Amino acid sequence: MNFNLFTLIFLLAIFSYLATLLYLNSRQKSAVGRSFDHVPDEFSDNISLEEHQKAAKYTQAKLRVSNYEITFSSMILLLWTLGGGIDWLDRLWRSQIDDNLYIGTGVLISLTIIGSVIDLPFSIYRTFVLEAKFGFNKTDNKTFLTDFTKVLLITIAIGLPLIYIILYLMSVMGNNWWIYVWAFMTLFSLVMLWLYPTYIAPIFNKFKALENTTLKNKIDNLLQRTGFKSDGVFVMDGSKRSSHGNAYFTGIGKNKRIVFFDTLLKGMNDNEVEAILAHELGHFHHKHIRKRMFSSFTTSLVGLALLGYLIDQAWFFNGLGVSVPSNHTALLLFALTLPVFIFFVSPISNYLSRKHEFEADAFAAKHTSPVDLVSSLVKLYRDNAATLTPDPLYSSFHDSHPSASIRIGQLNKITDQ
Ligand SMILES: [Zn+2]
Repeated sequence: MNFNLFTLIFLLAIFSYLATLLYLNSRQKSAVGRSFDHVPDEFSDNISLEEHQKAAKYTQAKLRVSNYEITFSSMILLLWTLGGGIDWLDRLWRSQIDDNLYIGTGVLISLTIIGSVIDLPFSIYRTFVLEAKFGFNKTDNKTFLTDFTKVLLITIAIGLPLIYIILYLMSVMGNNWWIYVWAFMTLFSLVMLWLYPTYIAPIFNKFKALENTTLKNKIDNLLQRTGFKSDGVFVMDGSKRSSHGNAYFTGIGKNKRIVFFDTLLKGMNDNEVEAILAHELGHFHHKHIRKRMFSSFTTSLVGLALLGYLIDQAWFFNGLGVSVPSNHTALLLFALTLPVFIFFVSPISNYLSRKHEFEADAFAAKHTSPVDLVSSLVKLYRDNAATLTPDPLYSSFHDSHPSASIRIGQLNKITDQ
């Protein structure tokens, strides 16, 4: 193996990635610990000290698992690359098949499957130990197993043809292959986004229309007031897996949907549900899906152009422990190592995401009541045992939503106006 300067750069990158993430975790742990005995004043009417301390313990327990997981996955990444794992898998497939496209597809799909099996112990621990300890887990063994099998089958059913087509385009489209691959991947993700709410999500959950008629009337009224043309408001049986509550929007075109977890609806009154829905409508109103799609398509174009350059550089392969350069090993190295090189931009994307959250909150405050949105958010923080006192630096790297006090402070400002 001919390691080179790029090997050193990669080692430095992975070390600073790991060190930064562990450092951020330790900051978060201290921030939560510092406020352990005191509920922040603005929440003291609605969140008891006991609930506050449960959130602190839960947050710290998640951080401990995260420390192990980050360290472990960095080691696995080193094994795949410099440790010769990719080379080994590549040789294994080469010894079985002649066709380069089949070899490539085989390598990529088998690495994906091995990766999800390696991750399985963490996923089991998180579900059956961590979540269970804090009373959140509702997943039984059967649901866990069927979920794993379903994900595996869907990965194979969708992943196999997808990978094959990408490798095919790379091999026949000449030097500008990356433009064709980008166009194909963009089209593919648009189709997936369209298919997801109606065809993929129902494989895992049941979706029902709202049954509560007073609430339904309120919602119809809100949809009309805000000019939103869709009857796509659904309730999902989130309680099948966890008692965490949430709401989200998904899909494009006529297939767009707003989904409430049944666990979220449980503790909320009608006005609070209406405020949460208005927040989700705010995302539609401000075209956040479209903006996010646009920025992810632009990013992937830049990424593929970069890969178009790297694929011709021997140092890229050798530096990352691959002795036989090929289209599929280039894709693999790129996908595996990119997060290590670009994790430091996550504060930027989180900043943009938080900006969207403020816009959606302002929209909800205008069309419903900021007071209802605040009380629904406080219930969400309380019931999900989310910390109210995150470390700001940790938060800038990890949180796509504004922290509790900033978000509620902003809404209170609107109320006072
Ligand atoms: Zn939102």
